[in-house]
This record gives sequence, structure tokens and C-alpha cells, in this order.
Amino acid sequence: TSFSELKVNKSILKVLDELGFEQPTPIQEKAIPVIRSGADVVGVAQTGTGKTAAYLLPIFMKLVKAEGDDPRVLILVPTRELAIQVGEDIEELTRYSNIRHAAVYGGVGWTKHAALIEPGIDILVATPGRLRDLYQAGAVSMKKIKTLVIDEADRMLDMGFMPQIRQLLEIIPVKRQNLLFSATFNEKVETMTEEFLDFPERVEV
Ligand code: AMP
Repeated sequence: TSFSELKVNKSILKVLDELGFEQPTPIQEKAIPVIRSGADVVGVAQTGTGKTAAYLLPIFMKLVKAEGDDPRVLILVPTRELAIQVGEDIEELTRYSNIRHAAVYGGVGWTKHAALIEPGIDILVATPGRLRDLYQAGAVSMKKIKTLVIDEADRMLDMGFMPQIRQLLEIIPVKRQNLLFSATFNEKVETMTEEFLDFPERVEV
């Protein structure tokens, strides 16, 4: 399978070509069609498998049409490092698209992050605590979120983020697509999946 057979947009194909991504990795080949179908998805894949692009590419396909300034995609990550990394991946992959994003995380003043969101964004990458701060300050709206990604779910659980995620999910619209990625699939991740996802399809590599 090629990226064009997976219906990746031209503006993204151009970047993939420039990056030398010749063909989808196994997790991308399996996950992209299922995510495109609109189903909730549990992806079990470790870092290094191409799991980030596996969820980003179908998200970009959904975002081609501009639609207001409130974020439509929320990507929750456990750490500042991952927030920065996912933000950089989005930056690179959307080089020729008009998709806007911001990556926010703890450890820096939230007003700086509020300023990144203020002009309007499509995708918000956030650690749970920082998102809560920004939301409580009225710096971000969750009303238009249609896709939720929980990345490195196993790590989120290990770091004790479950109560915070539960609180955050109360403020985002119920009608949405949920994508949960985890390096491992254990009992805790399964419980999280049952609580947050709706008849998820599982893809694994
Ligand atoms: P990840 O598993 O998301 O951390 O990605 C691991 C690395 O693989 C990243 O540096 C990506 O840029 C790279 N990558 C992702 N997809 C592909 C692909 N289809 N072909 C080659 N490299 C890729």
C-alpha cells in the first residue's frame, strides 16, 4: 500500500515525499483506514513505529476544510517532551497545508500558551494539567472538539493522570471520535478504553 492509496492529501504527500517516507509503516497501514472510517480506535504501538503519523495523517484529512478558530482536535500527551515532539511533527507535516496548531505543556507561563491559541487553531496538543489551567482561565474553548487523541495512554496512567483526564472529558463534546494509543495494552489501559471509547476497533503491530 502507498500513502496515496490511503487517500492522504496532496499537500501532505508532498511533505512525505520530501521527508523520504516511501511507504506507510505497518501501524499506519492498519490504523489509517480504520481511523478514516470514523470508528474509535485503540492503537497498540511503541514509539519508533510511526504511530504519531498513524493518527496525524487521517486527522489532517478530516481538517482540510477551514471551520472557525476553535480547536477541533485535542491530542492529550503525558509529558512536555512528547507535546513538543508531536507539535514539531505537525509543524513539519502541515508545511504545505493551512492547518494551524499549538502545543502547550507545564513549566512555562500559561499566558505564553494562551497567546499561541488566541489567533485560532485547528489542533491543540496538550498535557492534562496545562490544558486545565488554560481552560479555567478561559483561554481555550473545547466546544468544537470532534476528535480526541490520548497518546501514550499507558504512561498517562502510570503518571496518575486518570482523574484529570476524566475531568477534562466532561468538558469536551460527547459526540466525537476517540483515538487511544499505547505502547502496551494492560488491564489498566483496557479499563480506560472501556470508560472512554465507544466500541473501539483495536489495531496492533
Ligand atoms: P513515532 O513512532 O511516531 O515516534 O515515529 C518514529 C519515527 O519514524 C519518526 O522520526 C518519524 O518521522 C518516522 N516515520 C514515521 N512514519 C514513517 C514512514 N512511513 N516512513 C519512514 N519514516 C517514518
